[in-house]
Amino acid sequence: DPKVPFSIVSMIEDVKMLVEMKIKSHDINFDISIDDHSLMAEGREVQISQVLVNLIGNAVDAIIHSPDARWITLAVKDRGDMIYFYVTDSGNGIPEGLQEKIMRPFFTTKELNKGTGLGLSISKGIIEEHEGILEYNDRSMNTQFIFTLKKIQAIQ
Ligand code: ADP
Ligand code: MG
Repeated sequence: DPKVPFSIVSMIEDVKMLVEMKIKSHDINFDISIDDHSLMAEGREVQISQVLVNLIGNAVDAIIHSPDARWITLAVKDRGDMIYFYVTDSGNGIPEGLQEKIMRPFFTTKELNKGTGLGLSISKGIIEEHEGILEYNDRSMNTQFIFTLKKIQAIQ
């Protein structure tokens, strides 16, 4: 497949529409911030949006029953020749013993029929095909996944 340039903002608009219903119906606060609205990447836009839908879906699953404030943020940062995507949720992170397993195909902690355990492994494959990285960011608070894409210059 040829790699096609696409706008990050318009991809994220599509993602927003895909996840909005689910997020709203569970009364979760969703915030998007984008460094630069002219950011462009190259590749298979539908696959990249699927990665975001997967990460946001996991975030919803993680916090859906939390009695505390529930929020998800998507931040897009312009860093040199790379674009960084951060999907963060108000959950408590992933236990250290599980962190190395979550990217494996069929690894899930969800009930039967609630999760296939394929979302992260497929997402990681998609990002790596685009020469980026996808990883869990272990930090003291909340749950955060990061992935990168190569930036291309916007067509004038
Ligand atoms: P699935 O969603 O079908 O379980 P994934 O590959 O998407 O499969 O995720 C694998 C596992 O990683 C999940 O079952 C869960 O244990 C963990 N995980 C992924 N995202 C999060 C998150 N945002 N918060 C807590 N755990 C997560
Ligand atoms: Mg999943």
